[in-house]
Amino acid sequence: MPKIAVLYDAGQAVLSTFDLDEVLQRILGIARDFFHLHNVAVLLLDREAQQLCVRSQIGWDPGHDRICLGAHEGISGASVAKKQPVYVPDVSRDSRYVCAAQSTRSELAIPLMVRDEVVGVLDCQSDQLDYFDNETIDLLTLFSTQASIAIQNARLYSLEQERARQLEAINAIAQQSTAVTDLEDLLARTCSTIQRTFAVSHVSLLLREEGELVLRAHAGSLTPCVPAGGRLATDAEPWSRVLAGESLIEKDLSSAQASSRLFVEAASRMSIPLIAFGQMLGVLTLHSAHKNSFHDSDLKPLEAVADICANSIQNAHYVERIRQLSYLDGLTGIFNRRFFELRILEEIERARRTETGMAVVMVDIDQFKRLNDEFGHLLGDEVLRQVSSLFHLNLRKIDVVCRYGGEEFGILLTQTHAEHALGVAEKLRKLVEEWEFPGVPQTVTISVGVAAFPEHGTTRDQLVRAADNALYAAKQLGRNRVCLNTRSQAASCGR
Ligand code: GH3
Ligand code: MG
Ligand code: MG
Repeated sequence: MPKIAVLYDAGQAVLSTFDLDEVLQRILGIARDFFHLHNVAVLLLDREAQQLCVRSQIGWDPGHDRICLGAHEGISGASVAKKQPVYVPDVSRDSRYVCAAQSTRSELAIPLMVRDEVVGVLDCQSDQLDYFDNETIDLLTLFSTQASIAIQNARLYSLEQERARQLEAINAIAQQSTAVTDLEDLLARTCSTIQRTFAVSHVSLLLREEGELVLRAHAGSLTPCVPAGGRLATDAEPWSRVLAGESLIEKDLSSAQASSRLFVEAASRMSIPLIAFGQMLGVLTLHSAHKNSFHDSDLKPLEAVADICANSIQNAHYVERIRQLSYLDGLTGIFNRRFFELRILEEIERARRTETGMAVVMVDIDQFKRLNDEFGHLLGDEVLRQVSSLFHLNLRKIDVVCRYGGEEFGILLTQTHAEHALGVAEKLRKLVEEWEFPGVPQTVTISVGVAAFPEHGTTRDQLVRAADNALYAAKQLGRNRVCLNTRSQAASCGR
């Protein structure tokens, strides 16, 4: 009777907390204090991996205290297979025995069962031969039923907690994705939110661009193989599979190619396709520094996150496109005056910082009113389009060609000094002069004014005024020429 009372207290003790580690500590404490065992462990069964892993123990030799056995390995495994306690009074005579402590002579393994399912094993070992009598085995078996329930409760509780955390994460990502429309910012924030809320060490967002996958954002230390902004082939494993729409868990990356691992400490990975409105945008990856870190049950919440990400990436693309459109001129397709005003400030700042120079080139088509009058407005429009296109095609990608207004163009030549800018302007003048505009049986010419930073001005107003003055001088001198502003005297012009 007192033993039953003890057992009742033990049951109460293990059932009075929801924290799994605390439950396990209490189980071991009771085994030690009530049953006087000095070598006892709780092994939990991982159904997916078919492994029994030591989760908590006392008395095991160092090095064995974290081991995993096959689900049916050792005496513990035998009790899982039988769903019955297995008692071995002399371990030296049992081939199933796996050594956890050198001093062990007898072992009792009791399956921890919830309904008909094994969740783990309470493994008791003694340094005496045939240490466990029938009464102790019965009492420990009774105790283990309460221990199993306590373990299961704690696991369900932590699962619930985890779900609540994941829902919070999904909510946080959804909220931030509607608030942030700048793509860079959105991707960076999403990575760190996923890293924090899903407690993973590494996250990356790979976006499909021009037939490749580009590493657009990450959280964690990258390998030198693929730096930030680095590109990956879309037909390489595992990306080809993920881009075909499959969510993938790789439990062990040790044999994966270094370039596909992305992160220094990558040992396992989960990759999820980013799909918005049926369009494949890229891949979300979560990497762990440990093998076997991801399970099938992790896929659903992460797929929900990936869907939200994909939609907000798509939205950010649209916003970017609209932003671009508001900087484009409707007639010619080149940038408009708004963009000129924005970029000239940035280019002045860059020139100031890097001391690489920059130049402002103002262009005006000569006698354009007459051209309109003679050949009609529609043809005038076509000339504007073709001049824009000539400029666009004959300047570097980094130069900025804008329609400043009417038949005037403002061009920003980045990293360019005055002399060179003059050469570029002369090239443009000649191009237009020599171009045969369809339907216009006469030469079309332009006048050009050039001003350079810092010689002719160091602010937007100074530079634009200087280039305008030079343009005015070009007109005064008879048109179809290029003039460079010289602050003090008249502009220096040439053809
Ligand atoms: P100058 O050599 O002194 O620059 O003479 P100009 O005739 O080019 O200069 P002016 O400023 O007198 O006339 C500019 C003309 O450009 C007047 C306007 O009708 C025409 N223009 C402005 N915007 C457009 C446009 O979008 N399409 C067409 N076809 N013409 C335009
Ligand atoms: Mg004009
Ligand atoms: Mg004109």
